[in-house]
Amino acid sequence: MLDADFFRRWMTATAASVDREAERLTALDSPIGDADHGSNLQRGFNAVTAALEKEAPRTPGAVLTLAGRQLISTVGGASGPLYGTLLRRTGKALGEAGEVSEDQFAQALRAGVDAVMTLGGATPGDKTMIDALVPAVDALGDGFTAARAAAEEGALATTPLQARKGRASYLGERSIGHQDPGATSSALLIAGLAEAHG
Ligand code: ADP
Ligand code: MG
Ligand code: MG
Repeated sequence: MLDADFFRRWMTATAASVDREAERLTALDSPIGDADHGSNLQRGFNAVTAALEKEAPRTPGAVLTLAGRQLISTVGGASGPLYGTLLRRTGKALGEAGEVSEDQFAQALRAGVDAVMTLGGATPGDKTMIDALVPAVDALGDGFTAARAAAEEGALATTPLQARKGRASYLGERSIGHQDPGATSSALLIAGLAEAHG
């Protein structure tokens, strides 16, 4: 079973890896974006960890809805509302239980990813965070380590794609040959699950 502490560790592990990888995320956002993805997420996840410490939410659902709210209110740019929706919708789907099973979490995360697709209009193959998140959710039944591998593979597979959503889509064919920053940060988020699980 996964308790509130597991979800807190997930957010803390993600904040740490976003800190470590911020420069790389921003560098990836430079040729096909506006070079702010790393700093956007760093600001957001710093706010998430601060809010979790201050408010100490007691259920898995409350941890994720609080985190999602922080991302929406502190991350400028497309990725804030999208990541915020992912965590808020996932948290909402977990309800008020004090512990959830890995299956319940997998279902809730799928609802979160669906909400991101509805909000942003992206589907797999559009060269966005969805290209890491959908394979991760599909692999989650096989465990967190499998989900992490699927997300990393999905992020790498965005390189040859032409962007059809977000800023990178303005470049048309010139977006080909660059790894998508949002798919890369989504792989960090999913890797955080494996880290939190230990
Ligand atoms: P901005 O483009 O506003 O500067 P960020 O740089 O923080 O925002 O985030 C860019 C990332 O957001 C992209 O690499 C892509 O993965 C993701 N993204 C952008 N638009 C969409 C969308 N409509 N649906 C899903 N993901 C998107
Ligand atoms: Mg950007
Ligand atoms: Mg921006």
